[in-house]
Amino acid sequence: MTNPDRAFIERAVAACDLAALRAALIHATGRDDLVALGPVASLAPEDVERLRALCVEILDTSLPELELRDVGDDGLREIMTAITGNPCDDADFIIRREFLGFSEWPYFHEWTPTTNPIPEGFRVAVIGSGFNGIGLGVQLARLGIAFDVYERRSEVGGTWTINRYPDIRVDTLSSTYEFSFEKRYPWTEYFARGPEVRAYLDHISRKFGVMEHTHFEHDLVEAVYDEDRDVWKLTFARPDGSTVHSEANVVVSAAGLFANPKIPDFPGADRFKGVFVHPSRWPEDLSLAGKRVGVIGNGSTGVQLLAPVAEEAAHVTVFQRTPQWISPRDRYGMPIEPEVRWIIDTVPGYWNWCRFTSIMNLFTFHQDFLLNDPEWEAKGGRITEKSELTRTMLTGYIQSQIGDRPDLLEKLVPDYAPMVRRPVVDNGWYRAVARPDVELVTEAIESMDENGVICADGTAHPLDVLICATGFDVVRYLAPADYVGVGARRLHDRWADESPRAYAGLMVPGFPNFFMLYGPNSQPVSGGVSLPAWYQMWSAFIAKCITTMIDEGHTRVDVTEKAYREYNERLDAEAAKLTMLTDAGSAKDNYYVQGGRLQTSAPWETAEYVAYTDEPIREHISFS
Ligand code: NAP
Repeated sequence: MTNPDRAFIERAVAACDLAALRAALIHATGRDDLVALGPVASLAPEDVERLRALCVEILDTSLPELELRDVGDDGLREIMTAITGNPCDDADFIIRREFLGFSEWPYFHEWTPTTNPIPEGFRVAVIGSGFNGIGLGVQLARLGIAFDVYERRSEVGGTWTINRYPDIRVDTLSSTYEFSFEKRYPWTEYFARGPEVRAYLDHISRKFGVMEHTHFEHDLVEAVYDEDRDVWKLTFARPDGSTVHSEANVVVSAAGLFANPKIPDFPGADRFKGVFVHPSRWPEDLSLAGKRVGVIGNGSTGVQLLAPVAEEAAHVTVFQRTPQWISPRDRYGMPIEPEVRWIIDTVPGYWNWCRFTSIMNLFTFHQDFLLNDPEWEAKGGRITEKSELTRTMLTGYIQSQIGDRPDLLEKLVPDYAPMVRRPVVDNGWYRAVARPDVELVTEAIESMDENGVICADGTAHPLDVLICATGFDVVRYLAPADYVGVGARRLHDRWADESPRAYAGLMVPGFPNFFMLYGPNSQPVSGGVSLPAWYQMWSAFIAKCITTMIDEGHTRVDVTEKAYREYNERLDAEAAKLTMLTDAGSAKDNYYVQGGRLQTSAPWETAEYVAYTDEPIREHISFS
């Protein structure tokens, strides 16, 4: 669309992310009046109006002339500070500069072979074609390194193809849950629904040359390292029961965390005559109309699906073991307005700065929520001031959703601190729980019989359908595939002895030429940027290891036992300080913590983690 009228521009400015628009216009014009106004979040209402009017004026009169100035790193940092009001530390700046996506290939490892060409027949095997596997494929394709992606299913998309339950969608803004090398993807909603994410991943895989290397219906059974030849021998199961074999110089598992559903083994479950559903196996033709439905679990999945389930079913019983802090998100479920789409497509820099403002709204920082503040606690406070403010705010939110139901409030407010578990986003869950045809049961489930669920107090809950939104066995990394490394040692045996661990979430000694994407303790809890950006950084690290191997004429890359041990000792010591391991109410198994150990995330601040993954540290990583 060209030359929209002023009313359209006013609507666009009213609906858009004003902080991002201000940043883009500062970037393009350098105007002092835009800078002087200060961060949008702290503006008085009349200043917000003044800022909006200024933006409308600029877009109405000067849009065709707007062009981003080359402000250099210092200029970008100044704009970041103008948005947040706080300076950005060096490591965060570097990864956030890439996150802005101004360069064509942010985070990518770029390389041209030097002394040694790529050896004849050199291949990388990528296991899984979800977000991570596709991202690595794009990185390898850019380097010209031959690769195969092996996918057990018949389409790309990983967890987004498996999970098709009602209302599935991303629970972070789509402007952050995307790769930074594909600019201005035309998402239709602020938080894209599952089918749209699937379509996005299919698009990326095709556009960037990954799809043509993807072998579907190849389920990795076993990978065995041949120490004499430094190659991995791979065995795949096919749907017809046959097996196929192949080899690769390097194997990267991008199998993800959500391959293995966790289904509770209640005594008597096998006698249940109704329909038993795990959300990752949602039957296509499942009708809940007129049915009595039970929902176990109030994690991200159970919370996302309850409202549509309650809408359709005759009666729902929600079984809650532990209350969650469930929080609202601005624009959750809303389409991106045509006016905002126009801004994304036409205002230089808006899409980029929107990514930045989105992560700044998203992230919790160590000092705010995850590390107890001794000064605050000495004054009688709990955890940190922000933690308590959030507790008050979220308790008020729960109250606002359930109305005058003190019986419910008591059961719904957690006794542990907010933000120490994986944040859960509200999709009308509290309102659904307060419906007259929904019952909240907090009594423990003891057993099942042919009719339904029986709780510890002896109450029987007759059900036609039981939905077990009980999550995934996230610590069964890589399972069911078996990796057999040096000395015929199985990775799962090693992990059985010491719990799943890795160096930087990526490597385990004795398993040369093998990397994991989203392995144990991989994502720094303090975030810094969003998950797909970490996917890209992990891929770049793996690519650097591979190209170093090629450049230096080696055939093997491994992490040393010493580096692995010391890394994990430091990691455990750092993790022990985190509220999620010290706050009594939260220190039990959940997505982050398993068996008393921080499991899926890493306890690091960005700089500490990036120091391990930016470049392979030669004292830690051996090439031979
Ligand atoms: P989850 O966070 O592990 O939650 C499992 C739920 O089931 C918890 O409420 C748990 O209660 C309950 N539960 C488990 N076993 C039980 C038992 N035997 N009896 C009673 N209750 C039981 O699993 P999830 O909700 O599937 O989420 C897993 C991860 O998937 C998330 O952390 C997130 O990373 C991802 N996810 C993302 C999205 C998205 O929108 N992007 C959507 C869904 C999921 P306790 O708390 O007491 O253990």
